[in-house]
Amino acid sequence: MSTQEQSAAGSTPEAETRSPDVVVVGAGTSGCYAAATIANAGYEAVVLERKTEEEAGHIACGDALKGADAFPDAIPKSKLEPAFTNTGVDHGRFEIPQEDTVLEIPVPGELAVIDRWEYGRRIIEGATEAGADFHYDTVVQNVTQKDDGGQVTGVEAIRKGQPLTYEADLVIDAAGALSVLQDNVDFSNSTFDTNVNYSHFCSAYREVVHVEEPVEWSDALVFKPTERAAGYLWYFPRTETEINAGLGFQMTEEPMKLVDDLKHDLENRAEFDGAEVDDKLGAALPTRRPYDSAVHPGYMAVGDAAGHVNPTTGGGIAGAAYAGKYAAEQAIEGLETGDVSEKALWEYNQRVMDHFGARYAALDVYNILSTAIDVDDLMGLLAAMPGEKLAEALYEGSTSVGPKLAFESLLNSRGHWGTIWTLFQAKRCADDLLDLYEHYPEHPAALEHWQQRRDDVMDEVYEATGADPKY
Ligand SMILES: Cc1cc2nc3c(=O)[nH]c(=O)nc-3n(C[C@H](O)[C@H](O)[C@H](O)COP(=O)(O)OP(=O)(O)OC[C@H]3O[C@@H](n4cnc5c(N)ncnc54)[C@H](O)[C@@H]3O)c2cc1C
Repeated sequence: MSTQEQSAAGSTPEAETRSPDVVVVGAGTSGCYAAATIANAGYEAVVLERKTEEEAGHIACGDALKGADAFPDAIPKSKLEPAFTNTGVDHGRFEIPQEDTVLEIPVPGELAVIDRWEYGRRIIEGATEAGADFHYDTVVQNVTQKDDGGQVTGVEAIRKGQPLTYEADLVIDAAGALSVLQDNVDFSNSTFDTNVNYSHFCSAYREVVHVEEPVEWSDALVFKPTERAAGYLWYFPRTETEINAGLGFQMTEEPMKLVDDLKHDLENRAEFDGAEVDDKLGAALPTRRPYDSAVHPGYMAVGDAAGHVNPTTGGGIAGAAYAGKYAAEQAIEGLETGDVSEKALWEYNQRVMDHFGARYAALDVYNILSTAIDVDDLMGLLAAMPGEKLAEALYEGSTSVGPKLAFESLLNSRGHWGTIWTLFQAKRCADDLLDLYEHYPEHPAALEHWQQRRDDVMDEVYEATGADPKY
């Protein structure tokens, strides 16, 4: 009897089983780059995506793609370029209504505002051309695993009512924020980071708005704090007349009230008179340090599923692309040596920390700081600081200020000196973290000791800022 006949007869259909070399869950940036890398090396990668083929790649985003000049080459950059709708953006405009000020801050590196759906389709096309296989309408519901927290051996999914089992040497979890896979793996036999909770996430929402006249700031990413401290609004120009307008806010806030903040701001801006909205989407994104470890035997988490997002800007596309590449290269090594143990996969963690993880962990200190200090005070202080130094702080996790500049900034920032002192202490802790991540362990057995040292620095962060402990 076929599986369809069984279904019609009312019995549970039998699960079909597939056995590629690697199963990748999620056809977002991290999944596509991982699958393309594996397929380029001649191995069989199957990407499971819950969306339909038409909807795949349609992902809530501010559409700002930073660092496109240095994206991994598993998918040729020429493939992505047609989705870049505005490559003329070179700075951020920070509107600070409390101070009646606009800060212009240079953005280092190449930046493009993109048509995110078109980009999503193009990375899927790129991975398909590399040889990866995409299975749409396929919702992964569970993982299969050897007994007692052992190696992950595959996943269980459902496609249009039909259960499916995928067996593979490696599973790459590219399922985005709050990945369901992690609820189902028993991590008791590895150091995989399970210290994850709601306070580590933001909700973000965006609309695509069409205006009649070109906006004056089509060369800038515009940011503005929401009326309440917990969030910020953005206006990113896809073109001179097509604007991605959105906001991000801590998950602990009431979302609808904050969406009202966006609505009010749009109504109050003359450039949006008569504007039309054609696409509304929201999602969660991690605003935390990267997972201390994102590997378990037979399993690696990448991109949003492992906290690979700049926690101060919410930019996660570049981190996702690189995490996908690094995990895939580790998977290839595992396939070639036949060893997919935690120890064998560990180098993936090291490469992530080395490339951007340390920086993001340091940047998270400023996130923690922002939860504890008065927003008006912070805005006043930002308004008094030189733009290029803010840019360094925003992207590098640290900045240096010479004596002359420090003196000028101090004069400009009278009234905020208490906050400056806290900021200074936070910066010292962020620098300590950067140093510590340089010594990220070379194998899982050394992780616990390293974590203790890192947690000592975090204790200093909480003490200096007065913030509630986050981890
Ligand atoms: C509103 C918003 C604005 C943002 N703006 C920017 C920005 O301007 N610039 C930037 O760089 N970053 C931005 N980000 C962050 C960025 O979008 C993410 O960091 C990035 O998309 C992460 O890629 P990913 O591949 O890890 O996950 P995702 O892109 O989320 O992809 C995950 C995929 O997995 C699929 N999936 C999930 N669960 C299952 C399942 N159980 N079974 C099968 N498939 C599943 C999903 O359908 C999805 O296709 C923004 C995020 C949000 C929410």
